Amino acid sequence: MTDSMAREIIQRKKEEYGESLIILCHHYQSDDIIAYADFIGDSLELARKASRIGRAEHVVFCGVYFMAESAAILAPGKSVYIPDRDAGCPLADMAPEGAVLKAWDALKEIADSVIPVSYVNSSAAIKAFCGRNSGTICTSGNALKVFEWAYSKADRIFFLPDMNLGRNTARGMGIPDDLIALWDPEKDLGGLDEETLMKARIILWKGWCPVHWPRFTPEDVSSVRAGCPGIRVIVHPETDPRTVAAADMSGSTANILNCVSRMSPGESLAIGTEANMVKRAASANPQLRIVPLKEVYCDDMARITMEKLADTLLHLEDDTYRVSVPGDTARHAFAALANMLKI
Ligand code: SF4
Repeated sequence: MTDSMAREIIQRKKEEYGESLIILCHHYQSDDIIAYADFIGDSLELARKASRIGRAEHVVFCGVYFMAESAAILAPGKSVYIPDRDAGCPLADMAPEGAVLKAWDALKEIADSVIPVSYVNSSAAIKAFCGRNSGTICTSGNALKVFEWAYSKADRIFFLPDMNLGRNTARGMGIPDDLIALWDPEKDLGGLDEETLMKARIILWKGWCPVHWPRFTPEDVSSVRAGCPGIRVIVHPETDPRTVAAADMSGSTANILNCVSRMSPGESLAIGTEANMVKRAASANPQLRIVPLKEVYCDDMARITMEKLADTLLHLEDDTYRVSVPGDTARHAFAALANMLKI
């Protein structure tokens, strides 16, 4: 299918389905896809939007699989589709359910008063695990508030799967490094001893987003500052804590865009996150100087193409692209997500 055929199909199907179709797009999607978005957002904004979809019967999610699963969980009764089922997330895949349950059982034997919290970048099975154990979900935009809530319920947090978001958030709350434990699923008891686990305030699962870690480094921050005196630097909290410390600020994609909206003409900002979003912010704000801290792209987000979007819209009446989550998993994952949306 050529690009012009794909454009014609997308436009025609959008007109045909009208308000019964909604296309949600993550900020990391390419401009070609964003052009057809009814709503653009980060994980939290898209989760909220999915939970409040009114008349739309069909929700096409241009993002990665765990996001479409979350939409299916939060919008029961709607049909949710993803244009490529193989658009996964390596970070989410680093926390398989079996390994997490094994770690949880071992942890509970040693350390009491522990609550599970998962980053939204996780499978429905992991969200359900949190829901079954009175835990919750967070995004990069609300992690601090969610951690505060979790500490009102338990002495320690079992956080998965992103070790950098966990450490950056814990440090932001003043938790010292010696009370932050890192659970390596490849090792017995996570490579930790009982004393470390008993005194830890947070146990981090050893997972990371390969787009953000270890790609953005403190040296990148020094280098951009040297090339552009006066430039400020903001990075996503999935980056290395040393990079966060070297930058002026860190924040979720929504926070980064808020930061851009507050800048005055002539100011400069280097942004450490996926480059599609950074370049779009730069072209939407020609009065500012916005540059990627480093040009990195998410290969999984890039799996969504116009051709696949067009084909999805041709198959809204069958299961080719439909995303569904088994009932029991969906119920417990919903509980965890609902907890988050209340915080
Ligand atoms: S940017 Fe990272 S966390 Fe987000 S979908 Fe890609 S690999 Fe997963």
